[in-house]
Amino acid sequence: MKALVYRGIGQLELQDLPTPEAEFLVKVLGCGICGTDLKTYSKGHHMFPPPAVLGHEFYGLVERTIPGSGFSVGDPVVVAPYAECGTCALCSIGAGTLCRQKSFVEGGAFCEYLGIPASYVATGVFRIPEADDAFTLVEPLACVLNGVAHLKLRATSRVLVIGAGPMGALFALLFKARGIPVTVLEPGAVRREAVAAWGIDAREPGNVKAGDYDNIVIAVNRKELVEEYVKSVADAGTLLMFAGLGKGEAVAIDSYAIHYREVSLTGCSGYALPHFREALELIVGHRGIFSRLISGRVPLARGKEAFTMLQAGQAFKIVLKPGAGDSGSAGSAG
Ligand SMILES: [Zn+2]
Ligand SMILES: [Zn+2]
Repeated sequence: MKALVYRGIGQLELQDLPTPEAEFLVKVLGCGICGTDLKTYSKGHHMFPPPAVLGHEFYGLVERTIPGSGFSVGDPVVVAPYAECGTCALCSIGAGTLCRQKSFVEGGAFCEYLGIPASYVATGVFRIPEADDAFTLVEPLACVLNGVAHLKLRATSRVLVIGAGPMGALFALLFKARGIPVTVLEPGAVRREAVAAWGIDAREPGNVKAGDYDNIVIAVNRKELVEEYVKSVADAGTLLMFAGLGKGEAVAIDSYAIHYREVSLTGCSGYALPHFREALELIVGHRGIFSRLISGRVPLARGKEAFTMLQAGQAFKIVLKPGAGDSGSAGSAG
């Protein structure tokens, strides 16, 4: 099978690899490029030493199944890239994102076929109504839903999202789908205008009046933004550190906001299976809204171009299509 192999920083190569011999096999129809994939390609990542096949935001068709699994050949499915154990102390208090006994799909999905361990099928494979690239968004949306669960949303809430990268934009689309007033601050004109074209209030950073927003999501990994916006969030409001900072990186927080104004500072990363299931339902129900995040579709063979485009900050999500020929459109954001 064809696979896009990451061979080191800045290196991606289409190669022939043996098709997995797993009992349960998924034919990949589309796989979104995640921030983690982009980071690995641009700077390397300790979890993905080369050579490696990246990609975890995928859906496809069941190519080979296990009798009694409930799945038939040809079923469209989406696969959660990892799943918490569900029984440890952290899982039992609802912190499945922090479970240390997670099971994982082995290998990435920037290829034609992905084998799923038999023991993982019942936990992590989900039937979808039909094959649609929108289902590549289930995993990132699940991460966003985990973030939203950390906010304190009220009937009168006004949310501010800092940064219209793919995840910031996905937060904005979720609030739009839920009818919650949201403003996005983004310095880059291309992404800002794309978000505005979705009917979302998108502005250049600056001029945020203290108290205007009771929930603020920081979707850019710069500590100065946390320091700045903790001062702007309304009394009794919440600031979510959604973008990850480096391990050990210190942030200077104005304690007045936390103590005298009862602002909550929180953060999260990843998802747990309840978020994944909720994200799947949301995509089924609001496919039109969430599909806007897909800026382009690129054949696997031209995957490197898609990474270059994302590096330039000109797109939100690009879906790599293993089955496609050489054509395909990696249009600009929008
Ligand atoms: Zn992802
Ligand atoms: Zn667990």
